[in-house]
Amino acid sequence: MGSQPFSALRGFKDLLPGEAEKWVWIESVARETFSAFGFAPIRTAILETSELFTRSIGATSDIVEKETYTFDDWDGRKVSLRPEGTASVVRAWLEHGLVNGVQRKFYYLGPMFRHERPQAGRLRQFHQIGAEVIGEAAPRHDVEMLSLLCDFTARLGIGGLTLEINTLGCPHCRPPYRTALQRYLSERQADLCEDCLRRSAVNPLRVLDCKKEGCRKAVADAPCPVDHACGACGDHFKAVCDGLTDLGLAYCLNPKLVRGLDYYTKTAFELTSTALGAQSAVAAGGRYDGLVETLGGPPTPAVGFAIGMERLALLMSPDVVPRPAPLLFIVPLGAAAGRLLSPALFQLRQKNVRCEMGDEAAKLSAQLKRADRLGAAHALIVGDAEIAQNSAILRNMTTKAQQTLSLSTLADEILSHLAGR
Ligand code: ATP
Ligand code: MG
Repeated sequence: MGSQPFSALRGFKDLLPGEAEKWVWIESVARETFSAFGFAPIRTAILETSELFTRSIGATSDIVEKETYTFDDWDGRKVSLRPEGTASVVRAWLEHGLVNGVQRKFYYLGPMFRHERPQAGRLRQFHQIGAEVIGEAAPRHDVEMLSLLCDFTARLGIGGLTLEINTLGCPHCRPPYRTALQRYLSERQADLCEDCLRRSAVNPLRVLDCKKEGCRKAVADAPCPVDHACGACGDHFKAVCDGLTDLGLAYCLNPKLVRGLDYYTKTAFELTSTALGAQSAVAAGGRYDGLVETLGGPPTPAVGFAIGMERLALLMSPDVVPRPAPLLFIVPLGAAAGRLLSPALFQLRQKNVRCEMGDEAAKLSAQLKRADRLGAAHALIVGDAEIAQNSAILRNMTTKAQQTLSLSTLADEILSHLAGR
């Protein structure tokens, strides 16, 4: 008896033809859009030393505490599959001396790994498209990021999104705010969930973000970072809001939106959709002026975001994905026809005509059936009779209309026929 067939791990999904075309299209629209906004591609390692993430994302974050795929490699070194892209981009930026380079804007796309409970829009291997601007402090770069996000989702035909923004303050105004928030939370300990009780001591801002009903009620009147913003943070935030208005981009202020990590400063944002249920955020990001320094670099302002591709795919209508070029199915009837048509098949493919060829030993009806099932627009039929007359039959698979072409100029005739269609 054979053994059980293998299946993919829970939370790891295969993308098959039918769905994968959508992903390929999202990626091509991303490349085009991000390039138009002046971003250069960067591809970083997928496996990193675990310390990169404990140091950047923070040892007390959900991601590092319980989600990262971490293991000892054969050298006994603790390594992690990347749970997000920013830390790796900053690591690469520092490692390769990009601090001195002229390019400050980078984008990436690829798989990320978090051991979460899989559900719609939440996987253990998921995919992000992300962008980072490293070395720019001005609010116009925050606006640039947000305009990129809005334009990209618009190009994908996704509507009904809300851009929520907030400011988180900086190392000057955050500590007093944090203290005020902790004082507020300490009076409401009985209403907080177990996680938030712990968070209120180590990372109180994240309590604002808890999805549990009790915690949401408890923080309803909590002080918000914007109320404690210093002059510089207030001015920065106003400039970002004004910049969005100048571009005609709608946004809403969400004073409880946080990115719970210490390196985040000033602007924080999320792009949300009510069509996604509990997983409402399609994209999230913000300014992280403290991260480069945390990772051992010079003080360097930066701003970035990451978009979840699974959630983009869920929100996209399948109709917006361009259809592949029409298929030409070549039908050789017998070995001689097969031999003769192979070069035409090759030439047409070299000219980007999407073609497939049937099995020369199969009957005409069987080959035409296969052509139909593959959705071919045309079939090109050649048997011994056609060879004798130096001709080929081009059949329109929809109308069934047929026309005769000359075998000696076959590829050119087909090309001009398809071009004239
Ligand atoms: P969430 O609140 O949904 O857990 P997050 O705050 O953990 O999101 P980020 O780390 O900011 O998410 O990642 C940015 C985006 O990546 C999210 O808005 C989401 O679209 C996507 N994302 C994050 N985790 C997953 C996952 N496990 N599966 C699919 N997409 C994800
Ligand atoms: Mg998460």
